[in-house]
Order: sequence, then structure tokens, then C-alpha cells
Amino acid sequence: MNEWNFIKVPLGDKSYLQDVLVFLFRMKEGLLMVDAGLNTDHSFMVISEGVERLGYKLSDIKSLILTHYHLDHCGISLRLKKLLSIPVYLHEKDRKIFQFFKENIERYPEKTWEFFRSYGVQEDILSFITNELQKYKKLLLGPTDTLNINDGDLFEIESGFLRIIHTPGHSPGHISIFYPEKRILFGGDLILKDELPHAGIYPHTVQYNPIKDYLESLEKIKKLKPEIIIPSHGEPILDPLKRIEEVISFIKQKIDEVYDIIKKGPVDLSHVCEKAFRRCEKSLSCFFFLSLSLSYVRYLIEEGLAEEIKKGDLILFKST
Ligand SMILES: [Zn+2]
Ligand SMILES: [Zn+2]
Repeated sequence: MNEWNFIKVPLGDKSYLQDVLVFLFRMKEGLLMVDAGLNTDHSFMVISEGVERLGYKLSDIKSLILTHYHLDHCGISLRLKKLLSIPVYLHEKDRKIFQFFKENIERYPEKTWEFFRSYGVQEDILSFITNELQKYKKLLLGPTDTLNINDGDLFEIESGFLRIIHTPGHSPGHISIFYPEKRILFGGDLILKDELPHAGIYPHTVQYNPIKDYLESLEKIKKLKPEIIIPSHGEPILDPLKRIEEVISFIKQKIDEVYDIIKKGPVDLSHVCEKAFRRCEKSLSCFFFLSLSLSYVRYLIEEGLAEEIKKGDLILFKST
């Protein structure tokens, strides 16, 4: 195996993305793994076979870094941690989300229902979303006894070192990994080649301003001047600065669009979602677009351009 390699782990029907990349780096002794697939037997098998194809055994994995808490990146880490007794590193903000899931998993679909209901989302759509979430409950769980990683932390590998870059936005504790010798950024889900960025607000991330974080993270990785970005899904980004600028301008344009929608308010969250992204319907993707719409509204509120108003039990938005 070269100094680093990856295994493509399929996501089946659990994501609109086809697969997630699990990275392996050669250390002086054994392997450092970055991310793990879904918590399924199939992911476990694909990872085990992938490691063997690269000439190693599963027991050669000596530590595991998780880029963020999402189920396609963390699931199997529970099993690997138990099986191999290895340290698992995760940013504290995402570790707290696993703690939240651990304490609230049975009530999570219900909490989601209550959360979006307070923003006026229709009950039939919410019932559909919460029924779907019931199927994901087990997959959402991840390790809560992880070791913290922070911006600037270094991990030694055989051919140099990897630097942790805290890049919140897609998740509060999202990290990217920079390999300075080759100027490669392993970007996790911060920036993908063909997909638009996702930075939603959910019942477990209510206190954050993901769009503000996202823009700051993009500026931060721009300063690193990576020559290539290798995301966790899809193809590598061979012209990183161009793609970063594209995503920044997409986000800024969306902020303006959402502001224009709110200026005609008071409006509810479903209205913002329909005008800025897509009509709310009975689909799980609607859950993600509602949460994304809420992030844009939050950004405008924190910038002093919009505010929440109460209409009975429901929250509406208007410009200030
Ligand atoms: Zn993700
Ligand atoms: Zn992902």
C-alpha cells in the first residue's frame, strides 16, 4: 500500500450518496484509519476485506479518527473500538451529540416532531419523517468515550504528519485533515465536488449558527492553499480554490434569497423551504431541507436582519 489509501464503503439505501471513503494511512507501526462506514455487517465486511486487499489485517489498525458524527462516517467505529481496543478521536462538539443520542435515542423521532412542529411544519409531513427516523435510530449511535481532537493537533504517520483543522458548519465538530507535505486536504463532508453543502439545524444542534461556521471554515481552508481536496464522498476536487469560491458564492446567494423571502413575511419555515429549496413533501430529504432552511434563517437572525415572532404556539419569521 502507498503512504495512504482508501476503501469505498457502500451506503445502500441509507443515503442519497452512493458510498463513503474510509482512509488508511501507514504509520511507523500499523495503520491510522479515518472514518468508518455505517453500523452494518456489510460495512464491516467491506472494511475487513479492503484492509486485507491492501496487505494488512484488521488488527493492524491502531487508531481511528472520525471527521464528524454522521452515521455514514462513524457507525462501525463502535464495533471496531470494541474489537480492537483502539483509541477513537472525535471533536468534543460532535462527541456531545453522541451523548445526546445516547440519552435521547428512544425519544429522538418525537423530539424531532416537536421541534419542527413549533416552526409550523405540517403534521402529515412530520409523521412521515418521524416514522422514517424510527428506522435510523440504531444507526445514529456512536462512541461517547472518544478522545478529543482539536484544531492544530498533529498525528504522525510514516511519511510525515497530518494536521487536524476544525472546520465546523456541516457539523459543529467537523474536522478536516491536512497533509502538508503533499498539500492534500482530506475534507470529510465540508466540501464535495458535485453536491451542494449541507449545514442544518436539528434538535441536537439547536444552539449553532451553521452557515456562519461554514463560511468561516471555507475561508480557513482557502488559506491552507491545498493543491487537491479529497472529500469523503465522490471524486477528488482538483481545483480546490475554484470550488471553494463556488460554494462560498452559492451560500451568499442563498442568504440573499432567504432574506428576500423573509422580507415579504411573516413566513413560516415550510414557506422558506419551498421558495429557497423545494416544496415540503413526505420524504426524508424534506427533513434535511427544512433543517437547512432553518440554518439560513438563523444566520439572518444573528446578523440582526430577521427575527422570530410567535403566532399562537408557532414560530414565524420576519425581517427586522
Ligand atoms: Zn456528513
Ligand atoms: Zn458523509
